[in-house]
Formats: sequence, C-alpha cells, structure tokens
Amino acid sequence: MANSKYAYVREFELPDPLLPGTFMLFRLDGHSFHRFSDKHGFTKPNDVRALQLMDHAAKDVMTEYPDIVLAFGESDEFSFLLRKSTTLYNRRESKIVSTLTSLFTSCYVFHWAKYFPDLPLQYPPSFDGRIVLYPSDKHIRDYFAWRQADTHINNLYNTTFWALVQQGGQTTTEAHATLRGTYSKEKHEILFSRFGINYNQLDARFRKGSVLFREEITPDLEKPSPPGFTETQTSDDAKESLSTTAEKGLESEEPINEVSQKLEAEEAKIAKKAKKKGKLPQTKIELVHCDIIKDEFWNARPAILG
Ligand code: ATP
Ligand code: ATP
Ligand code: MG
Ligand code: MG
Ligand code: MG
Ligand code: MG
Ligand code: MG
Repeated sequence: MANSKYAYVREFELPDPLLPGTFMLFRLDGHSFHRFSDKHGFTKPNDVRALQLMDHAAKDVMTEYPDIVLAFGESDEFSFLLRKSTTLYNRRESKIVSTLTSLFTSCYVFHWAKYFPDLPLQYPPSFDGRIVLYPSDKHIRDYFAWRQADTHINNLYNTTFWALVQQGGQTTTEAHATLRGTYSKEKHEILFSRFGINYNQLDARFRKGSVLFREEITPDLEKPSPPGFTETQTSDDAKESLSTTAEKGLESEEPINEVSQKLEAEEAKIAKKAKKKGKLPQTKIELVHCDIIKDEFWNARPAILG
C-alpha cells in the first residue's frame, strides 16, 4: 500500500491515558481576557452579560457531556468535575482537554450576540484548558473551596478598587495604593463608610460565582397515582419512597448491603417503567450562586462525589 511507507510516523503519537478511578478536574480560562474585556468594554468590576455568557457556554458543555457532575465559574474561568468512573474518550487527556475547550469556546462565540446584541465580536476569543487529577473527595471539596475563596477575594478587591476609581475619583494607581496591604475588614469598611455599599448585599453571582449541577427529574409513573405520589413525580418523591424502604429495612435489621441492593433494585424498576413508557429519567441543569465551601451543598447532593 502506498501509504505504508509513511504510516510509521503514527508510532510517534504517545498514549496519554489519565489514571483510572480518580476525579478529573477540567479547568479552562480565557486567554488574555484582561485585553478582551477592555476591547469589548466590559463593565467593571463585573460585567453581568459576560458572566451569563460564560454560564451559558458551561451549561452547553454539561449538556453535551453527561459525565460532568458539577461546574463552577468566576470571571473568565470555569471548572468542571467529571465523575470518578468516567470512561470518556478512554480517558485520553489531550482528546478530552482539546474537545471540551474547543466546545466551550465555540459555544461562547455562538451565543455572544444574545448577550452583546449591539457589540459584534472584535476578534476571536480563545481559552486554555487543563486537567488535574484528584484522588479523594476531600481534594475535590478543597479544590472548589479554593476557587470560591478566590472569587470572594478578587471580587472584594475589585469592587473596592472600582468604587475608589468610579465614585471616589481616584486614579487606578491611587486606588491600588489605597488598597495596598489592607485586610478584608478594611475593604468592607471603605465600601460602607465612603460609598454606602454593603458588600454582603451585592449580587450573589459576583460574590459566590456560578455553580452548575444536575438535578434529576423522575418522570411520573403509574396512573392513577398511588397514595403519596403526585402526578408529576419529582426525584425527591422518588427518594422519599426509596428511603422509606431503607428505613423499613433498617427497622427489621436487615444487613445494610441488602438494603442498598433493594434500593438499587427499586431504582432500576423505576427506570425500567419509565423507559417502557418512553420516558427516560431526565436531568436538568441548575444554576445557583450559593456557598460550596461549607458542608450543606455537598450533603444535600451526595451523588456529586458519588
Ligand atoms: P491569562 O491569559 O493568563 O489568563 P488574563 O488577562 O485572562 O490572562 P486572568 O487572570 O484570567 O487574566 O483575568 C481575567 C481578567 O478578565 C480579569 O482580571 C478581568 O479584568 C477580566 N474579566 C473577565 N471576566 C470579566 C467580567 N465578567 N467583567 C469584567 N471583567 C472581566
Ligand atoms: P474523531 O472524533 O475520532 O476525530 P471523526 O468522525 O471526526 O471522529 P475523523 O477520522 O477525524 O473522524 O474523520 C473526519 C471525517 O469527517 C471524515 O472521515 C469525513 O467523513 C468527514 N469530513 C471532514 N471534512 C470533510 C470534508 N471537507 N468533506 C467531506 N467530509 C469531510
Ligand atoms: Mg490566568
Ligand atoms: Mg484569563
Ligand atoms: Mg482568569
Ligand atoms: Mg480527522
Ligand atoms: Mg475528527
């Protein structure tokens, strides 16, 4: 075959599998967005249209890749958590990083005009991407805490900085000098006493960043509805009926693994019924701006760390 003489070059391509059984944390960040935000006249300190566009692109990426269980965004960056057991593209690093970065970027461009109807893109934006592997739940909790703490620190600084410039009449150099060496308490104080801004009342999107996660909607089952089931059965209802089973199991002191087997069997039954009716269990992607440092968010959603 004519090509065989050249095909050996393929051997130079090295496999790049990511360690199995570890969490993949994919983060992307806008390339030179300091410049990009300048060129497109982003509102300082926070352009809400630009943040909403980031959220939209992130949601599209999650829709396309069901193995992404959580995403967190701030400024020009987004982090995506893939479930530990994902076999996406056989866990090939460059395939995953390049495809996800590229999809996010094209979604960002695709939706641009919805958020900036009067301002055409001045040049094509780009994003860098990377994957970091984390072995434990604690690492993942700490990772997201790290990003959300970063959101807070940056936003407090930027909000105070731009108040000094826009309302306080300082030059950017003066504002930097005013803030040099200040603690967060002093920044809160400057905002409140000089500008009447209560930091804690600012838009949560700016203070907490954007959190995207999946919420399952279990389709309604039998009609008429059995007692305790509403017409449109939600996942919470389903969970309740399952946990009742679990409690019954515990009361009769069945071993835990038997209970969990029953739970699984029950879940499978629900899924099967739904499938029969042509209704696959659906998930919808929720966007919130809440705390993800404390336990509450995680305790309410054990499936994220699965
Ligand atoms: P790099 O290519 O190294 O990431 P960068 O210029 O993108 O360089 P970042 O540290 O990523 O630097 O910071 C992004 C910058 O983009 C912010 O400092 C801010 O100036 C600007 N920016 C991003 N999103 C917004 C927004 N929604 N509103 C206002 N400014 C924004
Ligand atoms: P993967 O995601 O693994 O790359 P793929 O479906 O993109 O899968 P490739 O090996 O990259 O597979 O092949 C790209 C395919 O896209 C070609 O085989 C061809 O069918 C189609 N294609 C790409 N460019 C053109 C083009 N200009 N005209 C017609 N078909 C094209
Ligand atoms: Mg950077
Ligand atoms: Mg950047
Ligand atoms: Mg950044
Ligand atoms: Mg090809
Ligand atoms: Mg291809």
